[in-house]
Amino acid sequence: MRRGVVIAAVTLAAVAGAAFAFRAPLLQRIVDARIDANLTRANTGLLDDGQLHVVLCGTAAALPDPDRAGPCTAILADGQFLLIDAGPGSWRVLDRLNLPVARLSALLLTHLHSDHIGEVGEAVEQSWIAGRRQPLPVYGPPGTDDVVAGFAQAYRRDVGYRVAHHGAEAMPGEAAPAIAQVIAPPEGTAAVPVFEANGLTVEVFRVEHAPVDVAYGYRIRWRGRTVVISGDTKKSPSVIDNARGADLLLHEALAAAMTGRAVERAAALGISRTAKLAGDVADYHTTPVEAAEVAQAAGVQRLVYTHIFPPLPNALARRLFLAGTAEAYAGPQQLGEDGLRIDFAPRP
Ligand SMILES: [Zn+2]
Ligand SMILES: [Zn+2]
Repeated sequence: MRRGVVIAAVTLAAVAGAAFAFRAPLLQRIVDARIDANLTRANTGLLDDGQLHVVLCGTAAALPDPDRAGPCTAILADGQFLLIDAGPGSWRVLDRLNLPVARLSALLLTHLHSDHIGEVGEAVEQSWIAGRRQPLPVYGPPGTDDVVAGFAQAYRRDVGYRVAHHGAEAMPGEAAPAIAQVIAPPEGTAAVPVFEANGLTVEVFRVEHAPVDVAYGYRIRWRGRTVVISGDTKKSPSVIDNARGADLLLHEALAAAMTGRAVERAAALGISRTAKLAGDVADYHTTPVEAAEVAQAAGVQRLVYTHIFPPLPNALARRLFLAGTAEAYAGPQQLGEDGLRIDFAPRP
């Protein structure tokens, strides 16, 4: 009996040992495959596959939203990688999407509200850490130079530490900075060029977001395709003028019917400050139905809502948000979400 126990124990140990010997290399191979995939995950193919890619890297508005990062849209085509706005949390979304962040060409700011600039520092720093080899131009309205200088000051020590640690060849300090490119406000609703490279052009136009003194929308053109980003604005003729016939309009939207109810409830509960703030924000944004009306008036091919407010935690909330939009715009439309990618081939 006792001998039987010993034999059973020895057999078990041998089986376990064999299993471990078999499994250790297997585990190592799994780990290595995972590491290799991580090291080579940057999707540089998006830069040279002959298409224009629009990627939503943040679709929230100013208040934290558990499902969305702050405003951010990526444009990739013909070796160029542009970011429009860098809202809080957007860099993590970009990273999760395996976008080729070392190849970031330029950052363009619609305006200087915190939800649009909160991660300018990370966009500049992380693209440099990833391997960006040139200073990063940051375009935006007057005041962009202050924003860029402020982030540079905040990150100055970090840059120094990394150059000292890794050496100037791996981390060239001269590539680290952002270079502010202040865009003078265009007249009226005119769009003026701000960026051009390899047939990808970006034009800027003014929108209406007072008391923000200058707020911009952007129009991207590439091989017969046009994408327009409204930026933050109330319903504006400037967006209609500049989005005419566009393949895609990304328009901000705040569901005033939903926030209005919150204002009423806040007032009923005696939370007057919240009621005031919630009431204030509606006057410089566009409702979903108004955004749909803009898309219809401009005759755009497709409408995607972004800068979504309030947060939409379930299907009912999403349905309420879009109520009435299908009656206002006859074309295809959808609620934007972080990670949504829209691809365009050149216009035939
Ligand atoms: Zn905003
Ligand atoms: Zn704003």
